Amino acid sequence: MSEVMKERKEKLFAKAKNGYDVISEQDKAAMEAYCRLYRDFLDSGKTERECALRTMQLAEERGFVPYRRGMELKAGDKVYTVNRGKSVMLAVIGKKSLSEGAHIVAAHIDAPRLDMKPTPLYEDSELAYFKTHYYGGIRKYQWVTIPLELRGVVALRDGTVVHVALGEGDEPKFVINDLLPHLGAEQSKKPLGEAIPGESLNILLGSEPVGESGESERVKLHVLEKLHEKYGIIEDDFASAELEAVPAAMSTDIGLDASMIGAYGHDDRVCGYAGLQAIFDIDVPEHTAVCMLADKEEIGSMGVTGMQSAAFDTFIHDLCDSQNVLLRECYENSFCLSADVTAAYDPNFAEVYEKRNSARINYGIGLCKYTGARGKSGASDAGAETVAFVRRVLDDAGVIWQIAELGKVDAGGGGTVAQYMANRNIATLDAGVPVLSMHAPFETVSKLDCYMTYLGCKAIYEA
Ligand code: MN
Ligand code: MN
Repeated sequence: MSEVMKERKEKLFAKAKNGYDVISEQDKAAMEAYCRLYRDFLDSGKTERECALRTMQLAEERGFVPYRRGMELKAGDKVYTVNRGKSVMLAVIGKKSLSEGAHIVAAHIDAPRLDMKPTPLYEDSELAYFKTHYYGGIRKYQWVTIPLELRGVVALRDGTVVHVALGEGDEPKFVINDLLPHLGAEQSKKPLGEAIPGESLNILLGSEPVGESGESERVKLHVLEKLHEKYGIIEDDFASAELEAVPAAMSTDIGLDASMIGAYGHDDRVCGYAGLQAIFDIDVPEHTAVCMLADKEEIGSMGVTGMQSAAFDTFIHDLCDSQNVLLRECYENSFCLSADVTAAYDPNFAEVYEKRNSARINYGIGLCKYTGARGKSGASDAGAETVAFVRRVLDDAGVIWQIAELGKVDAGGGGTVAQYMANRNIATLDAGVPVLSMHAPFETVSKLDCYMTYLGCKAIYEA
């Protein structure tokens, strides 16, 4: 190539590079340290409740205090509030008035899983099972024949809440069985989405009967006795329980180069943790920094702990009240990074991606101007000016980033909390970590992208 052509191209062509060609040795070391902490966070929280609890503990260690309505707040003050144990909002008060807007990172800490039905326990053929109802978009065939744990709460009639964690560490695990190939001829002919029906996702709980032979439901009784012994619960208590089956596998480095992390729940704890660690690491920001860790994103952000809940507005309204600022004025000047994962280009399934507009592993935090399906249906479609703002902030902070769509046009689609933030009159852009096997019981991300997402969140808070 002639020098002249090289110059002409360099001037005008986009310069996307693999992050490893750009990242400094110092950043690489920081990335490893960050990812170790992220893995600890993942392993200490496999449900939204556990993540909220761990977030609270970490926040308190970092000097955050529970927000009380009417509290006087000054620049640099750090507060948090937990919504019903499942969602957390944290803020560091900025130097500027809230009338000039807050800089928000909104991620979610719920993840696809299997919830227990209200009447879950039954015995069939002297085996005891739990009936489940899947939560979020799962590919059902991925949830059979893997070790599972049960986590959650049982709220008793008197209001006591019992925390359940079964299958941790060396404890016995649970499993959903699948057909053996020898008898699977008919099942194998079915489309992938139909081969494992939702009603067959029944969790095996036990096989040892108790009491005298000839009695019925002896295995079910054994299971109930075990649960009663451990938690003091009876069968009727399942009515007011939230029990979740989650993969038992713990996070692990992936690849000979250990450049990636495999785990359950990257979507979206990988962005939630980035937003959280970033708010811990900022000094007194110009704009008030807000980290929102929402629940219920995987089922549409509904409900009292979802992003559509007024809980977020109430929290920001309260902060505004402390400065005699109108909430609507704060919102119209705010910016939100909707920090959620995106699909990473997978060469094994190239047909569903459009290569020029796909997020790539190790190319940094992936911006998404729009999500949605078909003709951008359901997308909040960030304005060009909003994208330009983020470009500038990320470039100025030296953050490696890319911009992408979620797969080919008409190949499918998805959504995030972005639209609910945008509906509040907050300029919002999606950005997050590209994930391989998203929504699977074991998802893969790259360490470089995790770290760049952390740096990106930090840059947004500090902008
Ligand atoms: Mn997500
Ligand atoms: Mn998701």
